[in-house]
Amino acid sequence: MRARAIVQTAPRKLELREFPLPEIDDDSALLRVEACGICGSDAEQYAGVLPVPMPVIPGHEPLGIIERIGDRAAKRWGVDVGDRVAVEPLIPCGHCHACRSGQYQVCRGRGTMFAHGYIPITRPPSLWGAYADYMYLDPFSIVHRVRKDIPANIAVMFNPLGAGFRWAVEVPHTGPGDTVLILGPGQRGLASVIAARAAGADCIIVTGLARDAQKLALAREFGADHTINIEEDDAHRRVHEITGGRGADVVVEVSANSPEPVAEALHYVAIGGRIVLAGVKGFKAVPNFVSDLAVIKEVTIRGAFGVTSRAYASAIRLIESGRVPLEKMHTHDFPLERAEEAIRSLAGEIPGQSSIHSCLVP
Ligand SMILES: [Zn+2]
Ligand SMILES: [Zn+2]
Repeated sequence: MRARAIVQTAPRKLELREFPLPEIDDDSALLRVEACGICGSDAEQYAGVLPVPMPVIPGHEPLGIIERIGDRAAKRWGVDVGDRVAVEPLIPCGHCHACRSGQYQVCRGRGTMFAHGYIPITRPPSLWGAYADYMYLDPFSIVHRVRKDIPANIAVMFNPLGAGFRWAVEVPHTGPGDTVLILGPGQRGLASVIAARAAGADCIIVTGLARDAQKLALAREFGADHTINIEEDDAHRRVHEITGGRGADVVVEVSANSPEPVAEALHYVAIGGRIVLAGVKGFKAVPNFVSDLAVIKEVTIRGAFGVTSRAYASAIRLIESGRVPLEKMHTHDFPLERAEEAIRSLAGEIPGQSSIHSCLVP
């Protein structure tokens, strides 16, 4: 038997290839991929703006069934053949400074970021990414059991929802009484709404552009109290009005590409507030960044990149609870052969196709 996988060989170049299934030893496992979420960063990886070694099998948001597993891995991970698991992207080394200080989500112990979807196929056994029907699980891969009766294209949302719990709740310590302003209504922004709501935030505000009307409507359905179309409304005045002039306790910046919202966040945040920066901007500098605002308001600015096991666990519990109509956020399932269309549709490159959450179903 062989695995089918999408290989990225160069920027904007994907091809379908076959690989032999790997040998599974006592400490590793083989995952039969049920679904792989399409991430905003997949579009950047596809375009070649992320420093990812190629050729590579992309896909870092895998959900699947354990097809084979070594005895020791089964014992250590607490899962067995036939179990459904969500796989964390990062494969920590377990002994670098980050891992030892409890920040395994930024582990660089193996040189670069060692994660599913980012390891080149030249490293055996090649099947490191989830744009494939089978994926190799390393002895250090981290898996979470997920109930099997949930549709795969919903269960796979553990990844963006996990980011919502980490970025909008765990990092800024969001809780009852907090006003949370979320800049950007993409899948991470919507996940932040859901997580902030679950954490008991008092008031949730989401900003977006005119073309985001559908996403802003969804944000309201998922629990946002106010949405602001920054092209039509005076966002400063609206946030001022909504918060009684105080500003937002927590500002979560999850917009893509444009660095302007980072500078804006300092105007929106309350005295003593927390700003979480999680949207990547292609290493562009931020124009009009007024650092004095951070000083005089005593603002905490935190970067957030990875997601922790605890946040993934919160996401999975929320999915399993059935409390949130997550299916409303899911727009597309694509077969493996249409990976390129899946990525371009999320990136907004296909006119008339608006994608929010989509996944590959091999
Ligand atoms: Zn992702
Ligand atoms: Zn490490």
